Amino acid sequence: QTEREERQEGRIVVFVRLRPISKKEKEAGSRSCVRIVNRKEVYLTEFASENDYLRLKRVRGRHFCFDAAFPDSTGQEEVYATTTAALVERVLQGQNGTVFCYGATGAGKTYTMLGTTDNPGVMVLAIKDLFVKIRQRSLDGAHSVSLSYLEVYNETVRDLLSPGRPLVLREDKQGIVAAGLTQYRAFSTDEVMRLLQQGNQNRTTEPTRVNETSSRSHAILQVVAEYKVEDPATNSILTRVGKLSLIDLAGSERALATDQRSLRSIEGANINRSLLALSSCINALVEGKKHIPYRNSKLTQLLKDSLGGACNTVMIANVSPSNLVFGDTQNTLHWADRAKEI
Ligand code: ADP
Ligand code: MG
Repeated sequence: QTEREERQEGRIVVFVRLRPISKKEKEAGSRSCVRIVNRKEVYLTEFASENDYLRLKRVRGRHFCFDAAFPDSTGQEEVYATTTAALVERVLQGQNGTVFCYGATGAGKTYTMLGTTDNPGVMVLAIKDLFVKIRQRSLDGAHSVSLSYLEVYNETVRDLLSPGRPLVLREDKQGIVAAGLTQYRAFSTDEVMRLLQQGNQNRTTEPTRVNETSSRSHAILQVVAEYKVEDPATNSILTRVGKLSLIDLAGSERALATDQRSLRSIEGANINRSLLALSSCINALVEGKKHIPYRNSKLTQLLKDSLGGACNTVMIANVSPSNLVFGDTQNTLHWADRAKEI
């Protein structure tokens, strides 16, 4: 195997999802500045206004190419099937896998990950798929699917299934664990959506907007699947354990803003810390560095066993079509484009 092939295998798979334009954006007179062609290519157009948004003029275009790009009409099932179904397959082989949603606040990360009761997202569809496949493959019918759902907010870890005091991270034989974190044993897909919706309501909100989830909060769902199979080589029984981490990252706009304005607020600095730490770990892993700086943030400590080793990492970059958030979209596409190279 050549070095290039190995790198190819180890590389992050990067997708872009465009969400439909919202009523609010339409009413604000916004135009679409993102176009998706051939399910792979993204065209970003910059408009210049001549003191009047009605006379927007196209000034510049940029073109990006990804493993796949989803137009705004793409449904949840297709996003799941293209981005995550193959990872679920590897988790059933006993590997660990990670899916991130990245993008500015309002770009569609939570819709993609959690979705709604009528249109469940990647988290729910992955668990549904795991249930179906694990039942087919389990030797004696015995299997377990357990969930934990937690938040990293302001470098503090909280249990979203059983809110209370912050959790302490400890290193033990299995790696880094959040002490006292609820491991919920799930038996059916039906209960999972409700459980996750409740968990999402426990995410930290900004004091000024109590009904909205804080754009500074990272939500991490970890699903551990365990079952028994026969090993044909030795005729013995093996237990397969795999872990899938599904992550709804904090809004990327603040991380980028605080990066430029130095570390003025502690909250901003901590978001910055987790997102920056994540990108430096991913960089170091792909460059084959010996030292991976997991310890730099709570997020990367928690993901230590999911990013290193036999890791399978998927990134979904979410963007709005509106030219009013052109800067955010441009930043997200640049970051995603870079992630693709490493
Ligand atoms: P984020 O989590 O990135 O801040 P949300 O997922 O909350 O953004 O999306 C913002 C709004 O847009 C929500 O009202 C959501 O329901 C809607 N939305 C996002 N993506 C889609 C989509 N693909 N189809 C339909 N509505 C969407
Ligand atoms: Mg969200």
